[in-house]
Amino acid sequence: MTTPPAHDPACIFCRIIRGELPSRRVYEDDDLFAFHDIHPIAPVHFMIAPKLHVESLAQCGPAQAPLLGKMLAKAGELASGQGLADGFRTIINTGRGGGQEVYHLHIHIVGGPRPLGAMLPRQA
Ligand code: 5GP
Ligand code: ZN
Repeated sequence: MTTPPAHDPACIFCRIIRGELPSRRVYEDDDLFAFHDIHPIAPVHFMIAPKLHVESLAQCGPAQAPLLGKMLAKAGELASGQGLADGFRTIINTGRGGGQEVYHLHIHIVGGPRPLGAMLPRQA
C-alpha cells in the first residue's frame, strides 16, 4: 500500500488533532489523539485516532499493524480514566457500507448505561 499523507488539510479530524478546530481532548501522545464525540450516543463516547492521516481500516495493511495495536492497547486505560470500570464497546465504522462519516481512522469507545443508546433495540 502507499504511504498515507501525514496530514490532510481538508480532513476535520486532522484539523482537530493539530488544534485548528476545538475538541474535548481525552489523551494525546506522539502517535495518538483521543477526544470526545461531538454527538455522543451514550454517557461516555470518545474516539481514539492516529495523528497520521489514515482514511480507514480498509486502507490498512501490515505496515499499520503497530499503529492499530497501539490504538487498541490504549482503549482500556482511557476507558477506565473516563469511569468505564465495568466495560465498554469499541466500534470502527469502515467505508460507506460501514457507515463511516469521517474518513480519518478512529475507534469509538462507548460506555455507560445502555451503551449504544437508541442504536440497538433492547433485547426481549
Ligand atoms: P464515523 O461514522 O466516521 O465512525 O464517526 C464519526 C464521528 O465523528 C461521529 O460520531 C460524529 O459525531 C463525530 N464528529 C463529527 N464531526 C466532529 C467534530 O467536529 N468534533 C467531534 N468531537 N466529533 C465529530
Ligand atoms: Zn485526517
